[in-house]
Amino acid sequence: MKALCSGGCGRQATKASGWLWCYWCDPAVDESKKLQARKHGGQMTKQAAELVKTVQVVRQPDPELAAWADTIAWADEAAIHAFQLELAKRIAKGTVTTEQGQLLERLASKKLKALQAGRPSPRALEKVVKVMAFGTGGAA
Ligand SMILES: [Zn+2]
Repeated sequence: MKALCSGGCGRQATKASGWLWCYWCDPAVDESKKLQARKHGGQMTKQAAELVKTVQVVRQPDPELAAWADTIAWADEAAIHAFQLELAKRIAKGTVTTEQGQLLERLASKKLKALQAGRPSPRALEKVVKVMAFGTGGAA
């Protein structure tokens, strides 16, 4: 039967202790083992912190890229072709990730098809591009 630690720490008692003690209060658990477990827990936390940092770095929009995003204007076919050329160059140079490039290319193609078909373009497409690819545009 599951119970709380009889040490009064509020933790869940372990099966190994016969549901008497939590891992940390159990006198049967070697102190060095507890120390190691604590160390391991600390490492996991550090790893998690590193991961969060990495994600934040990735999410940080590149100012140069954001400035370029602001210049994106898909007014006509020529403008879209120019954009696609610029995009290809940026992907090749590595200043735009493959993921960003694929998304932008897909949206540009959509816009091009809409223009060729004489349909009004999907609403606020340029804004969607900025927000999804660069994480900016919301404040503008
Ligand atoms: Zn306890």
